[in-house]
Amino acid sequence: MLSKVLIANRGEIALRVLRACKELGIKTVAVYSTADRDLLHIKLADEAVCIGPAPAAESYLNIPAIISAAEVTCADAIHPGYGFLAENADFAERVKDSGFIFIGPEAETIRLMGNKVSAIHAMKAAGVPTVPGSDGPLGDDDNETLKTGRRVGYPVIIKAAAGGGGRGMRVVHSEDELLKAVSLTRAEARAAFGDASVYMEKFLTTPRHVEIQVLGDGQGNAVYLGDRDCSLQRRHQKVVEEAPAPGIPDALRKEVGERCVEACKAINYRGAGTFEFLYENEQFYFIEMNTRIQVEHPVTEMVTGIDLIKEQLHVAAGEKLRLKQRDIQIKGHAIECRINAENPRTFIPSPGNVKYWHAPGGNGIRMDTHLYSGYRVPPNYDSLIGKLIAWGEDRATALGRIRNALDEIMVDGIETNIALHKKVIMRDRGFEKGGVDIHYLEKILGKVHH
Ligand code: ADP
Repeated sequence: MLSKVLIANRGEIALRVLRACKELGIKTVAVYSTADRDLLHIKLADEAVCIGPAPAAESYLNIPAIISAAEVTCADAIHPGYGFLAENADFAERVKDSGFIFIGPEAETIRLMGNKVSAIHAMKAAGVPTVPGSDGPLGDDDNETLKTGRRVGYPVIIKAAAGGGGRGMRVVHSEDELLKAVSLTRAEARAAFGDASVYMEKFLTTPRHVEIQVLGDGQGNAVYLGDRDCSLQRRHQKVVEEAPAPGIPDALRKEVGERCVEACKAINYRGAGTFEFLYENEQFYFIEMNTRIQVEHPVTEMVTGIDLIKEQLHVAAGEKLRLKQRDIQIKGHAIECRINAENPRTFIPSPGNVKYWHAPGGNGIRMDTHLYSGYRVPPNYDSLIGKLIAWGEDRATALGRIRNALDEIMVDGIETNIALHKKVIMRDRGFEKGGVDIHYLEKILGKVHH
């Protein structure tokens, strides 16, 4: 097993990784910026190293500072969490070249999946269904582009191959807008990602976002751990997630899960990963792969009973995957609410002093958060301050429990989106039924004044 892990992240995920390490008897190193001296996991870690000032570019994204921290503390591995450097192939490579284990896939796998065109290509080869579209990046020949548009059929979406975080995408409704949209997206992609290549997909009008969790050991073994529905989104940011995705035929789930496992084997995938799909008319369409642990991983843990971070640590240590597909049984249902420090109506971030914090409890409730009374939420980072997860033997039970838990949370001093979850989403008829599409939340937000 690993003996000491440096956690190259902050907030709730840093605490989550620390807990898994402690369970396995692995020593931990916390790294932090000067704005983050009061983070909970720093107090619990065996060692802590300040890696720079508040701006993420100078601390959590500062590769030399993180590698130095691993050197001075004699860590043997680095866990990147999510966000920051988690999908940075150059970081993974530097970690390895400096003699440490990167807890995640090989740098070349991150690079392959980080480019959406090459990712789609690899998935197609493994038999994973993809969105109808251009075969690879669009070329410079306008006539060819127009022809592709006619073949795919409008509306289409132009996407940057190197895009991410919901940026570098443009929907095109008719042929006369196409060429202009392609050149605008190209220019944006060049400026934002340093790579001007773009491709075309059919724009699905009312899809759901359904994703499949996988684990691989990079030694020829891989499994899938069921699916999650993350359709409740605002500005392409997930707000609520659940597992399993409601109303999907079991045979179809199995079929797509098995294709994902095939794809993992084909690219010799190591670690935890997620295949993201759009789901419409009982069909899955692959859009991208995330080569890291995700924010919403707890809903999968709750329905499978498997600790994904511990499995990441095991395979990173070079062990063979301990799980076989038959070991993975989905039991009950889990729902997660992302809790953000923000105004529940305007969504403007609300950092500041948490005067009082009381966590909810009860049967099936899990609260992943780094908050405590007296903690100050710094203004420099993402506004996610915690995740409330509820498990029940069925969806209705999980929903009842999460409603109760939302009523129990007490937080003073900062604004949060708890009211949005409590009064709007978890009381919504459409959500209660299950299976709403990715535009649903924005639609109801446009209607309600809570
Ligand atoms: P990013 O890497 O920036 O998150 P994705 O490729 O995952 O980009 O797409 C982000 C979101 O954009 C999707 O969750 C979906 O809401 C929308 N989207 C992407 N491709 C399509 C498509 N072909 N049809 C409809 N919506 C799409």
